[in-house]
Amino acid sequence: AKEAGRNHFCFYNAMMGERNYADLALEHGLRKALRQQDLFVVYQPKIDVVSRQWVGLEALVRWTDEQLGPVSPAEFIPLAEKLGLIEELGEWVLDEVIRQMAAWPQQVRIPVSINVSARQLLDGQFAVRIAKRLAAYQLPAQRLELELTESCLVLGQDSTQKTLLRDLRAQGIGISVDDFGTGYSSLSYLRQLPLDTIKIDASFIRELPGNREDAQLVWAIIGMARALGLDLVAEGVETAAQATLLAGLGCCVCQGYWLARPASADQVAQWMDEVGP
Ligand code: C2E
Ligand code: CA
Ligand code: CA
Ligand code: CA
Repeated sequence: AKEAGRNHFCFYNAMMGERNYADLALEHGLRKALRQQDLFVVYQPKIDVVSRQWVGLEALVRWTDEQLGPVSPAEFIPLAEKLGLIEELGEWVLDEVIRQMAAWPQQVRIPVSINVSARQLLDGQFAVRIAKRLAAYQLPAQRLELELTESCLVLGQDSTQKTLLRDLRAQGIGISVDDFGTGYSSLSYLRQLPLDTIKIDASFIRELPGNREDAQLVWAIIGMARALGLDLVAEGVETAAQATLLAGLGCCVCQGYWLARPASADQVAQWMDEVGP
């Protein structure tokens, strides 16, 4: 047993070593990518499946490291948050998206949403900087939306952040609740904060149309959004059957691989040229 214990200990140590090395490589790579602006942004459309209209785009950051290859934002965003790099990364994304919005041809002039981390909302100058940046490119604020997760919005119930959200909203910037239904939070924030859109989390969509309970939950979320006057987007729509069910329940705006994968700015312009505005 002692022998096994020792082996176990060694094994554990080796694992730890490897893990630390991987973490360090990732950290080093991310710092370098930020310094060299080695990131890029892809855009995934939000499409009204009934009218076939493209109603918006979501900006999603990408990073391909020379050594590590493509790293998922699900991995490097939490790391950036942990390392205190998320403000810098968020700023870069904001700049890049606004620059791209101004550069796109006329037919791509639909709202673009940006994912915002909780820590970015602690910055007292956030709303002012966005306003300045939009003004610099002569873009109307209505073209920009921010996606905030429930947990982020619950933090936002603090009065300074409430003011920040009101400032953004007063400018005309749309506010969406991202990953709705996954935050284990009370729903009271929905009536306390200035919000425009609920994005139903992909986990509720995944097993549709077969899963009756999920269908009931989605139905309830849609009813609640209606009652509160909020717009809806369903995330992670991967099949025609899911889109049909969602539209039937009253959520026509869908986002997901069935409609389109996230794509480059040029690809998006080409698509919109083909489908028309
Ligand atoms: P999210 O905001 O919930 O974004 C949706 C994610 O689902 C994206 O993953 C998207 O590529 C993926 N997706 C879209 N349609 C489908 C589908 O039909 N099926 C499946 N299985 N997945 C689909 P991605 O791009 O890997 O981003 C992961 C997360 O990283 C995002 O989740 C968001 O929380 C975060 N993120 C991405 N870009 C940024 C950013 O610029 N800033 C911040 N703070 N977070 C970001
Ligand atoms: Ca999002
Ligand atoms: Ca989401
Ligand atoms: Ca998500």
